[in-house]
Amino acid sequence: MHLSRAEIVAGLQSIVGAQDVVTDEAVLRESSVDNFRKLENIFDVHTLPVPAAVVMARSTQMVAEVMAFAGAHGVNVVPRTGHTATEGGLETIVPDSIVLDGSPMNRIVSLDAYNMQATCQCGVPLQALEDAAREQGLTTGHSPQSKPVAHMGGLVATRSIGQFSTLYGGIEDMVVGVEAVFADGRVARIKNVPRRAAGPDIRHIVIGNEGALCFITEVTVKLFPYLPQNNRFLGYTHRSMTEGFAALREVMVGGFKPSVARIYDPGDADLHFSHFIEPGDCVLLFMAEGPAGIVQATVEGIEAIVAGHPECHQVDSRYIETWFNDLCWGPDKIAAEDERIRQTHNVNRTTEISANWSAINDIYEAAIARIGNEIPDLTRLGGHSSHSYINGTNMYFNYFYNLVDCGPEDEPTRYYLPIIAIICEETLRFGGSIVHHHGIGKARVPWVKDEYGSSYFMLEELKRAFDPHGVMNKGTILPA
Ligand SMILES: Cc1cc2nc3c(=O)[nH]c(=O)nc-3n(C[C@H](O)[C@H](O)[C@H](O)COP(=O)(O)OP(=O)(O)OC[C@H]3O[C@@H](n4cnc5c(N)ncnc54)[C@H](O)[C@@H]3O)c2cc1C
Repeated sequence: MHLSRAEIVAGLQSIVGAQDVVTDEAVLRESSVDNFRKLENIFDVHTLPVPAAVVMARSTQMVAEVMAFAGAHGVNVVPRTGHTATEGGLETIVPDSIVLDGSPMNRIVSLDAYNMQATCQCGVPLQALEDAAREQGLTTGHSPQSKPVAHMGGLVATRSIGQFSTLYGGIEDMVVGVEAVFADGRVARIKNVPRRAAGPDIRHIVIGNEGALCFITEVTVKLFPYLPQNNRFLGYTHRSMTEGFAALREVMVGGFKPSVARIYDPGDADLHFSHFIEPGDCVLLFMAEGPAGIVQATVEGIEAIVAGHPECHQVDSRYIETWFNDLCWGPDKIAAEDERIRQTHNVNRTTEISANWSAINDIYEAAIARIGNEIPDLTRLGGHSSHSYINGTNMYFNYFYNLVDCGPEDEPTRYYLPIIAIICEETLRFGGSIVHHHGIGKARVPWVKDEYGSSYFMLEELKRAFDPHGVMNKGTILPA
């Protein structure tokens, strides 16, 4: 039976209590979008249906009861924790959705320095877990730029990745076990063991599900020794991305594991490093961390490889260290950027993809050329590679444009989606993946079938099996 908004709210209040069912109109409007349509929040020009309520979840039991209620009545549920999503995963595209907010579930359950793993509820900010780990000389190894604001549930739900990924991997390499609630209210707990070969690894149904299959209530992640005193930085300028990719690839296939390994193209290098580079320069940089002997060997290995590329010129490592120390985005930086957009109507967006070594430069060149030719009002265009693997790397396109002759609510259709379209088309043309770490959300759904190819039916079957009534985050990952 279809419930009215009042009935949905009353039903939720009877489950969790009136105090945890937020119906304030301003909060509901703000909760209808995420950073993909952040201009709607910045300029208060909302265009999507507002949710019926934001429910503040305080326990797995509460989540299970809300999910069972939503499943029974066919009400769309949008899981949320840190609210930092960038691809529309939090958008409420149907009226009277429930935004199920796990941020009150913010307890670190255990920090086990013997087994080197920490268990926490979904609403624990990564920064809080990292701070607690460092008090014991440990680190999560996870450092996305949103570390101060993103929470563990969302980080696992989006297959997030951090700045030190070349050493520690993405979140999928860190998650040991999880607890998740499915659309009928059933709770699944996947235990914490170092490895298993008991059939398919079902953690991967949960990791990266973007709230479209289940609600993650608890996660256990690995811990590592924290040895910042050994950190070493290396930086080089060079004149072309092909040279940079060649040197980066040699470092990776040579078996070295710097924690940070990046190349910036001239457009992006100018944004971050203009105080020490010449116009047109690219920047190649590395950071090595870990036990002293490993760091020393890593630095020596990288220096020897880059010495074989005389077009790369070494710069003072303090420039790289200074850049590194200001990488994360906390609430102050985010508020300042929102204010800049409000004042200037100049918008900065990013889109990340990945590909094998043999394809990445083709994608980079083709996408940059098409964006430059086809998109109006650009004020800056560039990109960098920030996460590398033995078989390839990612590309993070970074672009700015002025809003000209359009309202802030028109930004996605006029600028942002056409750029995403170009990047996805060129990535698919050369055989790459259209999403490296921000998730499909709703923004990249038009290309998801082409991303999966002949394996797309497996994704559809997962959705059918775990969300038979289609109440989990409609329009996210798969078309509504
Ligand atoms: C300034 C900035 C910098 C960023 N830097 C990085 C970066 O370096 N690396 C990176 O990977 N990402 C980055 N991101 C993107 C974003 O921070 C990540 O996607 C992050 O993992 C989202 O976590 P969150 O807790 O904010 O999740 P939310 O924004 O609340 O949700 C994200 C998605 O996950 C789903 N979800 C949330 N919680 C749950 C749950 N408990 N169970 C099931 N589904 C859930 C939501 O429905 C949504 O689809 C950045 C974003 C910003 C704004």
